[in-house]
Amino acid sequence: EAARAQYAARRPRSAALHAGALEVLAGGNTRTVIAYEPFPAAMVRGEDCRLWDLDDHAYLDLCGEYTAGLFGHSEPRIHDALHAVLRRGINFASVGPGEEKLARLICGRFPSIERVRFTNSGTEANLMALTAARAFTGRAKIMAFRGGYHGGVLTFPITGASLATLPLPFVMADYNDNDSAAAVARANAADLAVILVEPMQGSGGCIPARPDFLATLRALADETGAVLIFDEVMTSRHSAGGVQARLGITPDMTTLGKYIAGGMSFGAFGGRADIMALFGGKLPHAGTFNNNVLSMAAGGVAMGEIFTAEVAEALYQRGEALRARLNAVGAAAGVPLSFTGIGSMLTAQFRIPAPDRPYVPTPGEEQLRELFFFDMLEAGIYLARRGMVALSLPVADADLDRFVAAVADFAENRAELL
Ligand code: PLP
Repeated sequence: EAARAQYAARRPRSAALHAGALEVLAGGNTRTVIAYEPFPAAMVRGEDCRLWDLDDHAYLDLCGEYTAGLFGHSEPRIHDALHAVLRRGINFASVGPGEEKLARLICGRFPSIERVRFTNSGTEANLMALTAARAFTGRAKIMAFRGGYHGGVLTFPITGASLATLPLPFVMADYNDNDSAAAVARANAADLAVILVEPMQGSGGCIPARPDFLATLRALADETGAVLIFDEVMTSRHSAGGVQARLGITPDMTTLGKYIAGGMSFGAFGGRADIMALFGGKLPHAGTFNNNVLSMAAGGVAMGEIFTAEVAEALYQRGEALRARLNAVGAAAGVPLSFTGIGSMLTAQFRIPAPDRPYVPTPGEEQLRELFFFDMLEAGIYLARRGMVALSLPVADADLDRFVAAVADFAENRAELL
């Protein structure tokens, strides 16, 4: 309560903005993840990995726009590409070279993607991939995992009914549970069109899939004839070719999004040429902004020049080292504080050992999550409200030192609550 009150007292302009927004924006804003109590801090300026809010507080940005902000806020090569495009004019209801260039870069990197198509978001990419897989197999059912997130209309809680707000026949299995996956796949084998999985549950708390779990899903798809889709919207950053390349497990289709268009709106789905051939006439897929020139141009530079295989590997290793340091902080303080994830994506967990499956947080854990968020803001560090960090390329070693120190302070100052 005290942390919340202090947060509110220091941000009167954000509070006023929120009050005004509620008069016209349902829910106060249009993104569930940034709708938190008592009101969200409004960020109004960004530079590399720094942010400033409406009340003039400065932050180290470790939220990284939920992984879409990989390049930070002012990468000059992306800005140059965007300015060059703007000088030629915006969107011509036409094909263009930027679209082919970005498609070639993506097909060249992700082992499963022989052909690709673009959308405006990861959500749409998943909806289109599901559509393609159902048309290809002539089957209806989609196997998804509890705790999974594939977009606002494709949200699957750990317990209770599916929150997917779509009339699709989902069958649910437990994540990282080979027996559950096998039982659900076999019980629905005759009508199973899709196995849809995140190689790491991102929104679900940065819970990596065990490699043998993904290998089991690959085998189950082969056995049942279902199309295996890896949702790498968040995880594609973990190597030049995503988690699939890291592990050597190749799905039939892959969905992408987030950082790939250099921070512009983006989604993509792709896969085996025989499945994607459906789009040569049988399946419609329009979309006014699918190949918008800003996303295509920024994406070409982002993937072609900046986020090379070497840069991807270096970022992965930095994240691994950071997670080890943070886990050492919790261990040294003797408090239940751990950090899950892969590479440059991490989530704070208020339990030890670090969870290896999605779980429903206790009310106490929920409170600690909120407190952690407010304490980090107070220390000048902006994370996702749920405690997720997504490192961006401009983050420097000194920034990481600062974050580790802030986490150590949290472990010490809040020890009696942990
Ligand atoms: N899939 C995963 C794994 C995601 O994490 C997200 C977004 O967080 C999406 C899909 C949806 O992407 P978008 O927000 O671009 O619709």
